[in-house]
Amino acid sequence: MKRMAVLLVLALVMSVLPVAAEGRLNVVATNFPCYDFARQVVGDRGTVTLLIKPGVEVHSYEPTPADIIAIGEADLFAYIGGEGDAWADNILSGFDGGDAPATLRMMDAVSLLEEEGDDDHDAHDAPEYDEHIWTSPKNAMAMVQAMADALCAIDADNADAYRASSEAYIGEIAALDAAFEEVVKNGARRELVFADRFPFLYFTRAYGLDYVSAFPSCTADTEPTPQILLTLIQRVVGDHIPVVYAIELSTQAVAKTVAEETGAGILTLHSMQTVTQDEFDAGETYVSIMTRNLEAVRKGLE
Ligand SMILES: [Zn+2]
Repeated sequence: MKRMAVLLVLALVMSVLPVAAEGRLNVVATNFPCYDFARQVVGDRGTVTLLIKPGVEVHSYEPTPADIIAIGEADLFAYIGGEGDAWADNILSGFDGGDAPATLRMMDAVSLLEEEGDDDHDAHDAPEYDEHIWTSPKNAMAMVQAMADALCAIDADNADAYRASSEAYIGEIAALDAAFEEVVKNGARRELVFADRFPFLYFTRAYGLDYVSAFPSCTADTEPTPQILLTLIQRVVGDHIPVVYAIELSTQAVAKTVAEETGAGILTLHSMQTVTQDEFDAGETYVSIMTRNLEAVRKGLE
């Protein structure tokens, strides 16, 4: 959304928004991981809203006036803080101090990795950091902790409850993290082949895994270069790779090509950038989706 339009909507928000609803905590989160971490910690003490609705492609999302109003009404606004939600900084900078929601920028809660494979990158540019921080369960734990800290700061009366629920969820993610360590330790290989976009930089680094990918990060490209396609095929054949990975909501076009050429299977690694309406309605969580990813990684390392 253009800055001017944002400011106009903000002016409207201010004029109709004298008070936030009292009593019940209202958290707005941009993407599914932020949403899941918020609802796990908030529990039944408030309302958590997923701003980017299920099925919506996050990279082309633009906030609607209703979304901007929702952010303005929030007690806490949680977002990632990368390229994908750069619109959030634009909106937040438009709020006057007193009207601004408390914010939680998740990229402040973890150690960042520079985006890889950015050919246009100029030495003079500021480094571009990969934004898919939650794909590492180790980061996810830090994000849940940051969520608990933010909620305790704005609602101290319920701090004990937020501490208890966050510790419980961090415990579940820690178990998952240990299971990934175990799968990698016991695997026959240390390499994953992504015949798709690659939002898993933090994940692969977290467990010391090598990878090749058809595309760097979440580029909008849909056709890999012939050289990269050849590299993928050679790697699968040369290293006897049993399965290649596609991400959620993918056409799997590249994965099918590689599979046909090599006989490798195709499995989905779910990056949770976008969940489907069915997944959302089924009550999927970060942990439930990552548990499926665990089995997919196990098969890939066999
Ligand atoms: Zn992405």
